[in-house]
Amino acid sequence: MSTDGLLAYCRPGFEPELAAELSERAAIAGFPGYARTERNSGHVQFLGVEDGAALAKALPWSTLIFARQKLRLLADIAGMDPKDRIAPIMDALGGRGRHGDVWVEHPDSDEGKQLAGLARSFGNALRPALRQRGLITEKEDPRLPRLHVLMLAGDHALLGSADPKDASPWPLGVPRLRAHADAPSRSALKLEEALMMLLTEKERAEFIRPGMFAADLGAAPGGWSWVLARQHLRVFSIDNGPMAQSALDMPVIEHIRADGFRWQPPKPLDWMVCDMVESPRKVADRMATWFREGWCKHAIFNLKLPMKKRWDETRDCLQLFADQAGKPLDVRARQLYHDREEITVYAG
Ligand code: SAM
Repeated sequence: MSTDGLLAYCRPGFEPELAAELSERAAIAGFPGYARTERNSGHVQFLGVEDGAALAKALPWSTLIFARQKLRLLADIAGMDPKDRIAPIMDALGGRGRHGDVWVEHPDSDEGKQLAGLARSFGNALRPALRQRGLITEKEDPRLPRLHVLMLAGDHALLGSADPKDASPWPLGVPRLRAHADAPSRSALKLEEALMMLLTEKERAEFIRPGMFAADLGAAPGGWSWVLARQHLRVFSIDNGPMAQSALDMPVIEHIRADGFRWQPPKPLDWMVCDMVESPRKVADRMATWFREGWCKHAIFNLKLPMKKRWDETRDCLQLFADQAGKPLDVRARQLYHDREEITVYAG
């Protein structure tokens, strides 16, 4: 069935948060609609919209916190004959223009992962068929929208279309990062992902330079400090707990045993990062103090989410931070792939 709306992917279990975020943001932007989802399905549809293109423009992917991927929803194809899944997809694409590539995907849920093999083999069959009909270009063309086929079951798929400038560049919306064997903790990957996802390449080059000073609040065992130290920043690592030897061996890291909610830098710093496990309000409030006092120019911090009302808490904590920071800031928040019950925020 042809349809119009949005299709967004999320971490399984966070469908209610993504549904609430899309519903609230769409309503504020003047596009009331409704979200359809199932718990642990890893995706949300936003339906009942008259102008899906305008809604997609009003909700840029980079501003959505819980969406790993954002697509225009083109069609919901149920009851496909497993012997010929290509024909109904071709039919649904009639009049939808040309795409520059096709990705066949599956939700990142327990159920969805079982469809990984099917998605791969079906993609290999679908691509040449779409090329032959002129529905996708001969060679990949990133200037054109990208077709997504989200397999929900052997006989059920959702079709979506991504604007490559306004969508995740990663299949399933999951960035591929390689863990470093010598990093003090797996958390290092989280800061690496945050820097990659929340800053542009140009911003990374401009904002992170050798010799800059940073504080890492809640630093132990030292994964985040290690990421900053590898970029040749000097790091004050604040934690009452022990740092890993691999972090202490880096001469630019100074471990200071102190309370991260009380410690103040000896002079204004370029960066502050914070991974303290505490109530999100308490963290948001302390992060705001750092900006109000002018103690840092840029920050990346985590907000651990409560068990219930996680969207409300997310929105309220970000508002509290913005209100208390005492100056207009560029604030970007996202639930990263490596984030479990938390979101990561950049401010600067
Ligand atoms: N980012 C670290 C890494 O990459 O290795 C992991 C941080 S771990 C999730 C949280 C840390 O916050 C713990 O080491 C804990 O001791 C520290 N912490 C919690 N409350 C703190 C406080 N009030 N002051 C300083 N550190 C605190």
